[in-house]
Amino acid sequence: MSQKETEEYLYVDQIVKLPFTESAGLYISRFLTKIRDEGKIVANKCPKCNRIIVPPRIVCSYCKVKIEDKPENWVELSDKGTVTDTMTIEDREIDAVTGEMVGAPNPNLFIRLDGGDEWTIIGHISEEMDASKVPPGTRVQAVWKPREERLGKVSDIKYFKVIQE
Ligand SMILES: [Zn+2]
Repeated sequence: MSQKETEEYLYVDQIVKLPFTESAGLYISRFLTKIRDEGKIVANKCPKCNRIIVPPRIVCSYCKVKIEDKPENWVELSDKGTVTDTMTIEDREIDAVTGEMVGAPNPNLFIRLDGGDEWTIIGHISEEMDASKVPPGTRVQAVWKPREERLGKVSDIKYFKVIQE
């Protein structure tokens, strides 16, 4: 038996960081710019099926019609809405470098924003850590970061808080 036949090869895991950016496109750029600059959430409306779509899309995913960039096809939504469902992720991501859990355990809310329709649902985290305190039907409102801290991301909304109306 030669040395080569008994030689063991080991593997070394490498963490490769490949940062890159790509254009968000006209519609998502407008959506994110409105969030950053005005603290507003915009959607667009399909001219065929009349669904209000958030985040806005250039093509309606239901009926495959192009949604033209016309003022009448844009809709401003409220930052208030109604919880339709909740999801709490128990098994959270572990940072491979630090070994610590990533993110907070806040329940994720699915929220139908006022000014939209039954399909106008966004997902975001809840201020409330206990999902049983934000059941479907709960009224919530976005809590925004101050303007100078906003980056044009959905995380410019810190979380949604329960409101009494
Ligand atoms: Zn449509």
